[in-house]
Amino acid sequence: MTDAFIGLGSNLADPTAQLARAVTELATLPDTTLVAQSAFYSSHPVGPQDQPDFVNGAVWLRTRLRPLQLLDHLQAIERHHGRERKQHWGPRTLDLDLLIFGDHTINDERLTVPHPELPNRDFVLQPLLDLNADLTLPDGRTIARLRQQCPDNNLRPLPPLPREPFPPG
Ligand code: AMP
Repeated sequence: MTDAFIGLGSNLADPTAQLARAVTELATLPDTTLVAQSAFYSSHPVGPQDQPDFVNGAVWLRTRLRPLQLLDHLQAIERHHGRERKQHWGPRTLDLDLLIFGDHTINDERLTVPHPELPNRDFVLQPLLDLNADLTLPDGRTIARLRQQCPDNNLRPLPPLPREPFPPG
């Protein structure tokens, strides 16, 4: 089993609901269990500014899937959410990134792990810290230190989602 950390982002079509649904889908992947999910945050967009703020979060999975199998599943979930992307760094219904996969360093044409933008994004680092304050990258850098050094993106925690109501009776 390998500990895998996935970043989630959305800024279209009820982003909080997109992320909540995606967490459920990630939790039910084959040969995979959900260890924990972070709070959700709102953040200003990177790149083009004429688009809505993003909602971001992260999950901690424990999986027997291989990295490229996991990427295939992430991309299938993105497609189920009707993801369309007309513009690099533009608005999207759901973006799933494989941030960390155990202590693996991967430089495949489809997959770079740890995710190369991870050190520059507070909306990725803060959810990772929520999940595991002692998390480190394979090269020994700590997520806590990277978070201190990261530029501010106006990250704001969102209130917790309301619990599902108890069924009547
Ligand atoms: P984006 O939608 O901007 O995140 O980019 C998606 C593309 O990035 C896909 O073609 C993936 O194959 C590629 N990619 C490379 N490394 C990763 C990663 N660690 N997580 C998710 N996608 C990745």
